[in-house]
Amino acid sequence: MSSLESLTFDNGFARLPEAYYSRVCPTPVPDPYLVCYSPQALALLDLDDREITRPELIETLAGNQLLPGMDAIAALYAGHQFGHYVPQLGDGRAILLGEVRNAAGQGWEVQLKGAGRTPYSRGGDGRAVLRSSIREFLCSEAMHALGIPTTRALAIVGSDRPVYREDQETAALVTRLAPSFVRFGSFEVFYYRNQIESIKHLADYVIARYYPELTALADPYPEFLRQVALRTAELMAQWQAVGFSHGVMNTDNMSILGLTLDYGPFGFLDAFDPGYVCNHSDTSGRYAFDQQPDVAAWNLTKLAQTLVPLMSVEAASGAISEYPQAFGRAYLERMAAKFGLPPGSETASLAMDALQLLAQNHVDYTIFLRRLCDFDNGENSHNTLRDLFLDRAAFDAWAARYAAALRQQGSLDAERSKAMRAVNPKYILRNHLAEIAIRRATDERDYSEINRLHALLTHPFDEQPEYEPYAAEPPDWAKRIEISCSS
Ligand code: AMP
Ligand code: MG
Repeated sequence: MSSLESLTFDNGFARLPEAYYSRVCPTPVPDPYLVCYSPQALALLDLDDREITRPELIETLAGNQLLPGMDAIAALYAGHQFGHYVPQLGDGRAILLGEVRNAAGQGWEVQLKGAGRTPYSRGGDGRAVLRSSIREFLCSEAMHALGIPTTRALAIVGSDRPVYREDQETAALVTRLAPSFVRFGSFEVFYYRNQIESIKHLADYVIARYYPELTALADPYPEFLRQVALRTAELMAQWQAVGFSHGVMNTDNMSILGLTLDYGPFGFLDAFDPGYVCNHSDTSGRYAFDQQPDVAAWNLTKLAQTLVPLMSVEAASGAISEYPQAFGRAYLERMAAKFGLPPGSETASLAMDALQLLAQNHVDYTIFLRRLCDFDNGENSHNTLRDLFLDRAAFDAWAARYAAALRQQGSLDAERSKAMRAVNPKYILRNHLAEIAIRRATDERDYSEINRLHALLTHPFDEQPEYEPYAAEPPDWAKRIEISCSS
């Protein structure tokens, strides 16, 4: 572990031609203070824990100064938002400071979100509020701990500088880390401007850096597109299996590396509801929970279209044609593991019937699966599970089928329970948990709840008896929490 002075910057993206970004300076904020940080993310930069309290680092994460070797830029991109093409978006409030190369040889781009206006800010103020920054920080790190590919969050720095949304709030900056923040929309912008060379150059850059095994191919582009489709399928399988709803699956929020990117009005399912729409502003339900795999497929067709100049139409459609099967297979594998059964058609129908029962009985998705880990196949009553259902007879019928399937596999309770506990989290970032941490932080300047949640969610599969209430169903007031795009 080392100090700020020994950070080595590489800045691969900033070495691309200026077509891809604008050089910018973060706009300073007055009197920044550290709200929270992730020791695990800090370690990705090889930084010692003590470094986080150094004024130089806090000033840097506030956008008030740059460290030697940083080269600050805002990236250009476009995207399909709610189905409509928007020709110019770009980092309207995110500023890439540089890319750190750690001792293990990994490159981590360091990006401030909420660092002030850029040439892509359009009407916005370039800022982020503390409320949404807390949600992004907690969820990024929680997703990582769940084993789901995601951008990471290093820290939140706050300032009392006012930021105006529906109400007056205060400013915050989240420092995000990712190997790359390139999005589907980073390619789209050049396709619709008919700048084919820029598409090719960006594809070459992404392939060389992030898909290096493809550089040996005579024609790497179709395989590149295929790999993006497969990573996206895997990501969707993980979202659906854990019950995560992103909320704004525009093509500008789709990572070219298959990472969960841009946390806005996301939500985890409480009671299982396939039509769950976490974004209060999404009135048509375009990005409802059960639509996500299909939306990703649609987004992939938009990416494929932008890459057609680099290949034939047939090659492009062939490259994404495996997506539905890849998603289906990955989802079934994850669900089978969650139910403690081998993947197969019988498991699929048991799992899907269970989901239907959960939906009909408004049963909490996470709690059901965690209790299922303790299913005792020698017993008939299964009371802790049964109590979750209003329709006891329907549950009993399902449980009898499940018990028979387990017996047929010769499944041993203790073994299965252990394996299931490693894939069915006990703790997830429920909206109400984030809300409590946010209220403490914004009303009382008390950040301890953020730290508590962060620590808890770093071990989502472990029993943590002192935090038992954090695994409970949401309280009634949680129904009134409205999460919109305002951030
Ligand atoms: P999002 O829905 O957060 O992914 O944002 C969509 C686009 O709007 C992105 O290009 C953002 O950079 C931009 N944007 C969102 N909020 C702001 C803001 N407060 N100021 C400037 N740009 C913003
Ligand atoms: Mg975005």
